[in-house]
Amino acid sequence: MANLKIKSGDITTFEGDAIVNAANESLLGGGGVDGAIHRAAGVELVKECATLGGCKTGEAKITSGYRLKARHVIHTVGPVYYEHSPQRAQELLESCYVNSIKTAEEHNCRTLAFPLISAGVYGYPKDKALEVAVNTIKKYGNDIDAVIILFDREAYSIAKEKYSDITE
Ligand code: ADP
Repeated sequence: MANLKIKSGDITTFEGDAIVNAANESLLGGGGVDGAIHRAAGVELVKECATLGGCKTGEAKITSGYRLKARHVIHTVGPVYYEHSPQRAQELLESCYVNSIKTAEEHNCRTLAFPLISAGVYGYPKDKALEVAVNTIKKYGNDIDAVIILFDREAYSIAKEKYSDITE
C-alpha cells in the first residue's frame, strides 16, 4: 500500500519529484490549480506543453517543472462531472490517478503531490473526489510517497473528518 498523507496548502510550493496538475485537454493552461502551476513554473512550461499535442481525459503527460521546486509536472485531465454518468466519471477520475502514478514511476519520480482533481470548476463532488483519490492512490501507488494537497477549506474539513488517520 502507498504511503499517503493529506495536507492543506498550495501545491506549487511542494518540494519533491513531481506535482500533478489538474489540466484541461489543450494543456495550454487554465484557471484554478492549472493557472497557479503555470504562473509559478514560468512561461517555459506552456512552451513545452504546446509540443505535446494535448491530453485526453483520464490520461497523463509529463514535463519539466522549470521554476517550481518539483522536478516535474504530470499533467492529467479530470472528467467534467456532469458530462458523464456518475460511474463513468468515477472511472475517468480513477484513470487520472492510475496514469499519473504510472507516468511518475516511468520517470523515477517517487515523491508526488496531487491536487483534488476535478473537484473545482469541473464540478466533481468534493467528498466523492476525495474518496476516489484516497482509494486509487492507496491501491496503485505501491512504490511512491504521495500527498494530496488541499487548497480549499471545505475539502480539508471533509478530509479531517473522514481520513483523520492520514490528515495532517
Ligand atoms: P478541475 O478543473 O480539475 O476541477 P480546478 O483547478 O478548478 O480543477 O480545481 C481542482 C482542485 O484544485 C480544487 O479543489 C481547487 O480548490 C484546488 N486548487 C486550486 N488552486 C490550488 C493550489 N494552488 N494548490 C492546490 N490545490 C489547488
